[in-house]
Amino acid sequence: MTIYESPYPAMEVAPPNTIFRHHLPAQPRFPDYPAFIDAITGRTVTLSALRTTALQLGVGLREKYNLKPKSRVIVYSPNSVDFPIIFFGCQSIGVITSLANASYTAKELAHQIRDGQADLAFVHPAIFEAYIGAIEILKKEGNKIPKVFWAISGDTVPAELKNKTKGIEAYDSILATQQQVGDFAGVELNKGDYEDCAVLCYSSGTNLNVVGQISRAASPPTMKNGKGQLILGVLPMFHIYGMVKLINYPLTIGVPVVVLPKFIDTLFFSTIQKYKITYAFLVPPIILHFANNPIAEKYDLSSLQNVMSGAAPLGAGLTKKVKTRFPFINCSQGYGLTETTAPCHSQNVEDGQRFFGSCGKLLPNLQVRLVDIDLKDVKEGTPGEICIRGPTVMKGYWNNEKATKESFFDGDWYRTGDIAQIDEHGNYFIVDRLKELIKYKGFQVPPADLEALLLTHPKVDDVGVIGITSVEKATELPRAYVVPSGDFANMSDVARNALAQELIDWVASEVANHKQLRGGCILIEAIPKSAAGKILRKELREKAKVDHQQQ
Ligand code: AMP
Repeated sequence: MTIYESPYPAMEVAPPNTIFRHHLPAQPRFPDYPAFIDAITGRTVTLSALRTTALQLGVGLREKYNLKPKSRVIVYSPNSVDFPIIFFGCQSIGVITSLANASYTAKELAHQIRDGQADLAFVHPAIFEAYIGAIEILKKEGNKIPKVFWAISGDTVPAELKNKTKGIEAYDSILATQQQVGDFAGVELNKGDYEDCAVLCYSSGTNLNVVGQISRAASPPTMKNGKGQLILGVLPMFHIYGMVKLINYPLTIGVPVVVLPKFIDTLFFSTIQKYKITYAFLVPPIILHFANNPIAEKYDLSSLQNVMSGAAPLGAGLTKKVKTRFPFINCSQGYGLTETTAPCHSQNVEDGQRFFGSCGKLLPNLQVRLVDIDLKDVKEGTPGEICIRGPTVMKGYWNNEKATKESFFDGDWYRTGDIAQIDEHGNYFIVDRLKELIKYKGFQVPPADLEALLLTHPKVDDVGVIGITSVEKATELPRAYVVPSGDFANMSDVARNALAQELIDWVASEVANHKQLRGGCILIEAIPKSAAGKILRKELREKAKVDHQQQ
């Protein structure tokens, strides 16, 4: 067995603690500072306001709604400066915080509420319609309906919405008084309970996972010294990458986060200029704008020293393009999964400028094995599936023992489903993906979800979904190969194109934005399958390559 160790010295992981008490201790590590700044309104939440308000929210949730450790709350919101308050409010009393993708449709949201059996929900007004839809679905099924609050403060809830949705109050209506909070500093857990689930991201992270990740993130591979730094907060806080790098990590190094609700190129570049942003955690499709977008040159971006790319592959070519256009920007890459509580590999700034296309070295406290399809360790220097163990690897999938069992082997080795090769310097290169996942702009698109949906359409007999790579857009795009019901051979090209478009539009109306069939829908005679009936996606991918060459 070959076990690869991190080249970095082992990190002392903070003693067992909750996410809340670790990040927001009574004696702050850093003097009070503007922890979160709304890029558009300038509204600022200081470190002390964050702690005080989160504790008031926690005590309010406990006293008024009887929430306690292991209760569940769902947060359905785009980024805002209220998001971290709600997150830490829940964490202060040990409530499992389930973070939902803000672009989920009613059906997808209903699934997450049902699966986590949420007791209470915080919902942003901008996406309230989908929440209403989700509740209607849950009601029809006879499922538990969580009590709902706005995920923004009362004074910012639009008046017309207040009239339309009487009875729904903002999260700050829950706040307990200072007197009720007293000297409460966040719930303390029994020793073994630190290993219980703390965050559902849609997979499980425990207190120890997140604390382990953060105490390590403050180590040399990434940002050494927070002083004089300003982080851009455009990654969604509901994704593990944003949850770790925007909500938690900056608090441990005392760096303000300038929060953007979503990516809009002019807003993005003007925010870097206006606030003199120094550091940004991004994904490749956003980094593409530094390489190609003509708007970028209209702004003074000279404050931006470092960009970290994660959640999807960042090609060497794209990094070089950014370097040529903006030589002062140092682009580095990290690799991680929800299951590893965000990065398990990362480049430091120096490596980022030397080893283009690598996702970096193994981070401290982790161990890796590279194995073949039979879970046998591959020869050194050959690619293999990354299997990983250490304190930041999740404990398992929520309510899914089967999936948990299948993803671990030899005890605690977690199978990532990604194939990597290690060079002589210890740099990892992700060269392929074994699992079926598609990633659109860093978001997960499980092909099985789209296949299950398409199979419910009356004009579809069979379907196979794959991801095709778009170099121009620096992302993968979901594509469906569909066997139409009826006589395929005698369908005219016009009829085929019309049906393909009909299915693309129909899928768009049924799923979240990132799951749309942006890679197209192609009608074929039969889906290639193994003798056991498994879709041979490799053959579909080969077909996609040939189709691309013929275009
Ligand atoms: P998520 O849990 O949404 O973060 O998705 C994790 C998956 O994203 C990994 O298993 C990889 O397939 C992919 N991924 C993340 N970072 C990288 C990277 N730097 N290069 C290639 N794939 C990546």
